[in-house]
Amino acid sequence: MKIGFIGLGHMGSAIAANLVKAGHDVTVFNRSAGKADTLVGLGARKALRIADACRGEVVMSMLADDNALTETVWGDDRLLATLPKGAIHVSMSTISVALSKHLTEAHAMAGQRFVAAPVFGRPEAAAAAKLFIVPAGDADAIAACQPLFDAIGQKTIPMGSEPSAATLIKLSGNFLIAALIEALGEAIALVGKAGIDRQAYVDLLTSTMFPAPSYKIYGGLIAQGKFGPAAFAAPLGHKDVRLTMAAAETLRVPMPIVSLLNDRFLRLLAQGGEHLDWAAIGGLATQDAGGAAVSPSP
Ligand code: NAP
Repeated sequence: MKIGFIGLGHMGSAIAANLVKAGHDVTVFNRSAGKADTLVGLGARKALRIADACRGEVVMSMLADDNALTETVWGDDRLLATLPKGAIHVSMSTISVALSKHLTEAHAMAGQRFVAAPVFGRPEAAAAAKLFIVPAGDADAIAACQPLFDAIGQKTIPMGSEPSAATLIKLSGNFLIAALIEALGEAIALVGKAGIDRQAYVDLLTSTMFPAPSYKIYGGLIAQGKFGPAAFAAPLGHKDVRLTMAAAETLRVPMPIVSLLNDRFLRLLAQGGEHLDWAAIGGLATQDAGGAAVSPSP
């Protein structure tokens, strides 16, 4: 397929590489131009302007947050003004429910189609084409994008015709992961302070009661205190907690744990955790118990 891809950060660069390797005709754009060079080496075309990545059947975006996506979509020569009628914008960023709804309306008014397709999986999973993709939007549009999803993920789980539903599902999933990071951090601090081997404890948990990938990945990172370099940066994790709080407020759903997680991220960021992985909130309990301060490993 002839597609554009906007946003070549940790996730976007890995996803775009797999689209190129699968044989799609991919034009890439990134705000900081240097990040496109590796992809050009693989066979991608480099767009110098957002508009030049929006001339195909589909444009995929994988940007940091609401602000980045808003700046990319609205304005002269930007995505909304240049995407052809009938073409599809696939948004994979983790964004607010409000922006997802706004994008759905704006693309419909412009005669374009919008699919929210957030993903589960870290950059390693993206590089291995093992993401889980959760698209929602027009069924024909999702079907048209299936060859793209097949190139980047191990499974696509469509969740209906309302894009904001996929957005909310992604936020709720990240809330659960953040909660398990905090809970694992507390449990590991407890056994660690008693002198029990932290990694052996995680191996026990993940080979018996908790074999899920998230327990294995985050249990290992917390046990080893390995929070840098960030694969999913703490400010982005904090963003997702705040977006979950906003969605909960809109729907009037009390979520006391999400408020606690917001405070954990504030503590981490206030104390210099800006460049750490979001797993570093799982190191705070050890620090609170008098253990080694959270610090990135070399
Ligand atoms: P990242 O490495 O920080 O990349 C962010 C991207 O957004 C870069 O291309 C950056 O461009 C661009 N950007 C930031 N602000 C911008 C602005 N104002 N205007 C235009 N472009 C802007 O982030 P990531 O880890 O790839 O995450 C991307 C999205 O995927 C986020 O919504 C995140 O929550 C979600 N996600 C991440 C993971 C993960 O494990 N990392 C997993 C699932 C979902 P520059 O290069 O110019 O800075």
